Parts: sequence; C-alpha cells; structure tokens
Amino acid sequence: MVHEALCALITFAIVRSFPMSKVIPLADARHGSGGPEQARLAFVRRAARGPAHGGTVPADRRGRPLHDLRISVTDRCNFRCVYCMPKDVFGRDYPFLPHDALLTFEEITRVASRFVALGVRKLRPTGGEPLLRRRVERLVEMLAGIDPGLDLTLTTNGALLARKAKDLAAAGLRRVTVSLDALDDATFRAMNDVDFPVDRVLEGIDAAGDAGLAPLKINVVVKRGVNESSILPIARRFRGSGHIVRFIEYMDVGATNGWRMDDVVSAAEIVAAIGREYAVAPAEPNYAGEVAERWRYVDGAGEFGVIASVTQAFCRDCTRARLSTDGKVYTCLFATDGYDLRTLLREGASDEALANAIAAIWRQRADRYSELRTAETAKRAKVEMSFIGG
Ligand code: SAM
Repeated sequence: MVHEALCALITFAIVRSFPMSKVIPLADARHGSGGPEQARLAFVRRAARGPAHGGTVPADRRGRPLHDLRISVTDRCNFRCVYCMPKDVFGRDYPFLPHDALLTFEEITRVASRFVALGVRKLRPTGGEPLLRRRVERLVEMLAGIDPGLDLTLTTNGALLARKAKDLAAAGLRRVTVSLDALDDATFRAMNDVDFPVDRVLEGIDAAGDAGLAPLKINVVVKRGVNESSILPIARRFRGSGHIVRFIEYMDVGATNGWRMDDVVSAAEIVAAIGREYAVAPAEPNYAGEVAERWRYVDGAGEFGVIASVTQAFCRDCTRARLSTDGKVYTCLFATDGYDLRTLLREGASDEALANAIAAIWRQRADRYSELRTAETAKRAKVEMSFIGG
C-alpha cells in the first residue's frame, strides 16, 4: 500500500516535470531505478569471498584512486530546499526509511574503517541533514577513532549547528561545511521552504568558527532567477573572514527537482560577477582532484571557490564513494543503483570480506556521468542526493 502510494507520488512528480511524450523508466526516485538489485548483491557476495584484495589500494577502470567517503547518516531533513527536496514530493506523507533500515553507528564505523584500510583519507557524514540523527556526536567520535589523521568533516544546513558545534568539535570533528544560499532573509526562507530564518544559520557558522571547526566552508547553490542576487552579498560578507565560500552550479541530481540547463548559473558567470567588484585571480588547487576551482582576492582578503560540475565536469579526477543511509555503496552522485553492503554486514561478513567487496566495487567503477550529461540523461531516474549524501 505504502509502496503503491510512493510510486504514484513519484510518477506524478516526474510526469508533471517532463513532456508527456517521454517514457520515464522509473520505479522509485528515492532509490534510483530499482535496477538489477539482486545481480548487484550477487556481485557483492561473490567479491566478498575473494580473491583477497591483498591490502592494496584499488584504482577504478579509469585509474582513479579511492580517497573520499561520503556517508548519508539520515535521509530526513528539516529543510525542503526547492532544488534538493521539494516539498511537493518530500511532503508530510513521504515514506522515509524506517529506523531499522538505517545502518547503525557500529555498522557505519565498520564499513568506514574498511574504506580507510583501502586508502580513504577523508570522511564526510552528510544526508539528509546529519545533525538530525540522534547522538550524531557519538558517530563522529567513533569515526575519529578509526584513525586520528583522517580529514573528518561534515556537511550541514547549519540549523542545529549553534547548539551542537562545541560537542562535535569535542568528539573529533575537524571542520564543517555549511550550506547557505542567501543572506537576504526572505530569499533564504523561500529557498529552504520551511520559513527558516537566515540568522540562525549565521549563528551556527559563528559557533562553528568559535569551536575551531576550521577552515569552515560555505556552500552556495546558485539557481537562476532564484538567488543570483545573493552572489555578491555573500562574497562581500565572508571576504576576509577566513571562511571559504564555494558557489555551486545547480545540478540535475535525483529525479525530483525538475532541473533545466537554463536554470544553471555557470561558474564563469559567478567569477565574472565577483570580478566586477574585486580583483580576483585563479589559485593553484590544494591537491589533485579538488572539486572546487579556487580563486583568490588579489588584495589578500582570502579566497572563494566555484564548483563547475555542470559546465566543466571533473569526473576524471573524482575519487569519491558514497554510502547511502541504508548501507549501499554508490560510485557516482548521479548513479541509479548502489551495491548493498548492509545485507553483507547483517549476514555476518568478516572485515576481510567487506574489504574484498569494497575493493571489487571500486575496481569495476567506470562512471563519468557529468562528462556525458545531455538534456535526455538529465531526465533519467537517479538516486536522490538526500539519500546518498550530498
Ligand atoms: N543537509 C545538509 C546540507 O544542507 O548541507 C547536507 C545534505 S545536502 C544534500 C549537501 C549539499 O548538496 C548542500 O550544500 C546542497 O546545497 C547541495 N545540493 C543539493 N541539491 C543540489 C543540486 N541540485 N545542485 C547542486 N547542489 C545541490
């Protein structure tokens, strides 16, 4: 019954967004296409049995190493950002995952520790809204315990950050990324679509700074006709603050946001807008594969970044894997299907078996969705960002 209602809801949302003449192969926009799940589980089980990965760090079919793991700790969010979890799809009756479908903190930590054993150096709890998961500080502490040298960070909408920043820092979080799409209160409330005031997020940013969660990054998704007017006020406000603003091109993640290329404000336009007010110059990347293109203010007032995932795809440098709320590994933000590790975990798989499976999943990875994006692919059912972690 619930499943039928979900399918009807999702189908309605998709059909409403695209021309009636198109056939949309969709089962459940939350989980992707609902593709060959059993075949993937069989692959995972077979890989778990060996041959052993041998402790080596795997590279994928395009020679890309595995460096980052994003972990969606909940599929729920207290915002309904129009470009991510639109209210008309993620409404009051939306069937979020039941608690026992979520990986437990112990399960997340076990999986993350196997990723670390295979070369991952950066862990990022995200969601949904990660600060909504009860006792998330405990999870941070457990992840920090895997290896003190890890780059342990978290992406949040900042709504609960003022309350939690200190405890997160004490638990071992190194830094934080806060999403903030406007400074103008009316625009901000309209974008989060739950009437949440911008001041509370700004308080969260201050609290995170005071707690030493630095360098603090601020993510701004720019959608044409919605918040382009926020680019300069945000750049002005955080220039010289030590925080690093990153402007993100609006992407065709998931299947529910009705993405159109016309709505994308390109990174080049964003840099030009800031460049009209301040002298800016490109800066060297901090490391190979850095997602944001760095720009510095020539007068020494710091830097900002642009993430041109639509106009200048960076698939060739992508070293990120994603662990969904229910324990599937996705090898691309735009994937339709993931590899089920939760079943393996709950069947009692050993650490060695888990590592074998993860290594095999990574080795067969060939994704380069953003390089292949067309108006047609943008309409395909893809897994929702809130579900696999933004
Ligand atoms: N709730 C947390 C937050 O708001 O930061 C974490 C999850 S959210 C999915 C992670 C990031 O993805 C946010 O910075 C958000 O702005 C970004 N995001 C979501 N939908 C997007 C889209 N369609 N295009 C570009 N970025 C998007």
